[in-house]
Amino acid sequence: MSPAPLRFLNRLARRVRATVAPIPEISAGLWLQTVQRHAFLGTLPLPDQSKLRALSALFLQHKEFTGAHGLQVTDAMAVSIAAQACLPLLHWGAPGKALAWYDDFVGIVVHPAEALARRKAVDAAGVVHHYNEVLLGEAMEHGPVMLSWPAVDSAGQPDHDGRMGATSVVIHEFMHKIDMKNGPADGCPPLPAGFMGTASRRAAHAAWHAAWQPAYEQFREQVIVAERFGGAWPWLDAYGATAPAEFFAVACEAYFVNSPRFAQEFPTLAPVLERFFRPAATG
Ligand SMILES: [Zn+2]
Repeated sequence: MSPAPLRFLNRLARRVRATVAPIPEISAGLWLQTVQRHAFLGTLPLPDQSKLRALSALFLQHKEFTGAHGLQVTDAMAVSIAAQACLPLLHWGAPGKALAWYDDFVGIVVHPAEALARRKAVDAAGVVHHYNEVLLGEAMEHGPVMLSWPAVDSAGQPDHDGRMGATSVVIHEFMHKIDMKNGPADGCPPLPAGFMGTASRRAAHAAWHAAWQPAYEQFREQVIVAERFGGAWPWLDAYGATAPAEFFAVACEAYFVNSPRFAQEFPTLAPVLERFFRPAATG
């Protein structure tokens, strides 16, 4: 079966949204190809897979993909990105409500390889340094998400040498989006009152920090010992030691890509993420 290009369906859907708003389906072949490519999608229970397929279709209806440097974003690429981006939203209620987490932007820019970004930093002596940073992805507050296609495509490759394999740059960047729903990325997304049995939003945030701060400090220490003194590298991506926001993003990647191992490595964080990503199941 050869489905009409999603871009055309997107345009069509936008035109009729005001009346019946049908969601263009993702074809069975395209969907199968996506879940077979990434083990963490393929091992989801079947009802979750069909929920994810519907959520991804709605996501595609609302987002616009652009290929950088002449890259042609195919339907398969768009579906792979949509499925990974929507995985964290599976248990947040009706698709329209769940997708509200991503409603502050429309554009997704896909690069054919790692992107180089020009950066500027001022050191303690006041000297300005210009440098290039290699990026696999980037998420801007109220702005587009940028992704490198090879990094998107390799998501979920198995662990090796006791360290986490390629996780999911898509989940990583979309976790920054969720984090930034209440201001600049700081590793703490907006939390509902009553979260983890708390009585107020303030108490919910205090409970969140009480779990994350010590875990972050401990992880940073482990990475520093590995870097400077030849200690064992942690399983989780060491990039998480650069800032609480990055720790949150890599922890969420690991939680979705290899949940049992994440629970072993971070027994205090796993229940917090479980409550956050499954609000309906846990009240
Ligand atoms: Zn990041």
